[in-house]
Amino acid sequence: LVQQRLDLLKTNTHNTVNSLLDTLALELAKKVDDKISKGTSIGLLEGIPFGIKDVYMVQGTYTTASSDLLKNYKSAYTATAIQKLLDAGAIPLVKENCDSFGHGSSSENTIFGAVKNAINPELVGGGSSGGSAVNVAKDFTVFSIGGDTGGSVRQPAGYNNVYGLKPTYGRISRYGLMAYASSTDCVGPIAKSIEDIRIVLNIMSGKDVKDQTTYASTEITHDAILCSDTIKTVGYFKNFIESDAIDSQIKSDFLESIEKIKAKGIEVKALDFFESNTLVSTYYTLAMAETASNLSRLDGTNYGNRIESENLKETYAVTRSENFSEETKRRIVGGNQVLSQGFSDEIYLKGLALRDSISENFEKDFNEVDIILSPVTPNTPPKIGDSLKDPLAMYLSDAYTVGFSLGQLPTLTVPQGTATGLQITAAKNNDELVLKFANFLK
Ligand code: GLN
Repeated sequence: LVQQRLDLLKTNTHNTVNSLLDTLALELAKKVDDKISKGTSIGLLEGIPFGIKDVYMVQGTYTTASSDLLKNYKSAYTATAIQKLLDAGAIPLVKENCDSFGHGSSSENTIFGAVKNAINPELVGGGSSGGSAVNVAKDFTVFSIGGDTGGSVRQPAGYNNVYGLKPTYGRISRYGLMAYASSTDCVGPIAKSIEDIRIVLNIMSGKDVKDQTTYASTEITHDAILCSDTIKTVGYFKNFIESDAIDSQIKSDFLESIEKIKAKGIEVKALDFFESNTLVSTYYTLAMAETASNLSRLDGTNYGNRIESENLKETYAVTRSENFSEETKRRIVGGNQVLSQGFSDEIYLKGLALRDSISENFEKDFNEVDIILSPVTPNTPPKIGDSLKDPLAMYLSDAYTVGFSLGQLPTLTVPQGTATGLQITAAKNNDELVLKFANFLK
């Protein structure tokens, strides 16, 4: 099985592969084979092939973040989430193509070539975890581990018709996930079934002394997600659906899904929420500020592709300007600007205050409803090449995913309801309810 999937990955034309972990995968697969031939029983995940977005450390493997800066960088240690999967016997096949440092919504901001959509290769694979979603959709991996800061697991899952979960912030350790925007970075599984998402989520969850934002969570059992009697009320945001920016088919399909839910005896409430432009600008202000700070360590001194110049200052400047992509530089410049004197009160602090208001709004909503339902995107996947021409339009296409990230809530994309799926969201640490509702909707 492992050899077969490695062969599929090697010959695929969707640009999903940054590096293959074939030696490691075959060595681990052999151990499982030996166990089976001896008649030893094996665990649920033993021998199951999976993929890893190329922003996770796996000791001794290339971790490039799809960037020129780190194209020769090898991880010195293994991320906690990945180590837990390895301990459970899962077999890592591939480091997957993505937008560089998670910066993007199309997986075109990469030195490995634009990821092509699994359903229609003329369209983008979505981003930033595009390679991960396409690998699952094409059955090259059984599941993949993406990273979601503002939608990067949920949106590509929606673009490729698979499931993708952004768990509650802190449920899974970020140790060994290359930091983009630390206050919303989440480890997220992509798979073809709710059950696979549940199993992988359980394995990766838990408190980690190496990430002080993690908390201890209880296991979500198979039986717990089968009964839906705790779900009485569902809400949706009026302004998302009434917006001029939404594709008319996505709008009518979403409203049809709402009618079906009502027909199942669930009460549905239309809720007020922040305008899309406010959500997108709050998210990008904070994400750019955090990434400018996080990426300041990449100056060619300790890591990466150093380009020598006349003096140290010039070496830093040339290393960074030659090796970061246009999109990444746009974010670093924007982030440093909103953090600088004269701008930070007006922009950065305002962003922080808005984030608090958004979280309070969610708290209020979850006193009234059990679940919030939303389309994943206002638009269908663009053609390859289009997003690069208009970065602002690309940012605006994140309108429905970034709010849930700022709220640090658990949100799952399910491949149904609209052309790019539906997002199911519950209150903080209620990941179980999200999976339960997904089962109920099936
Ligand atoms: N598209 C969003 C951004 O570029 C989200 C990316 C992500 O979640 N890594 O910031």
